[in-house]
Amino acid sequence: MEPDQSTGEQPTESSAADADADAADAQAGSQDASANETQPKLSEDSPQAKRLAYVHDADDVIASEQPRYEEGQQCTNCQLYQGTPDDEWAGCPLFAGKLVKGTGWCNAYAPRSG
Ligand code: SF4
Repeated sequence: MEPDQSTGEQPTESSAADADADAADAQAGSQDASANETQPKLSEDSPQAKRLAYVHDADDVIASEQPRYEEGQQCTNCQLYQGTPDDEWAGCPLFAGKLVKGTGWCNAYAPRSG
């Protein structure tokens, strides 16, 4: 018994990939802090918010369910908060297109360094 080593493989040539590699600028790089007020506010009930256990008020965090939470943590002192500490609402890259509340918290909280 001889093993048949002939693999009937044929090189497939896909010659139709002649697309113009146009850089589609899907994202306009204008991130203006003043755009804060124009975005909708994140709802605590949205699936995105629930996924990260986001709440508008860090005092509402149930510490026993959120072991990462420590008192004093809130969006305004999270490094992902895109506003100033004085902004009541501001953007957060984890909730693109929505504003999170300065007093809020989610389980992706990361302390602001410096
Ligand atoms: S990542 Fe930070 S700023 Fe964004 S919602 Fe969570 S705690 Fe707030």
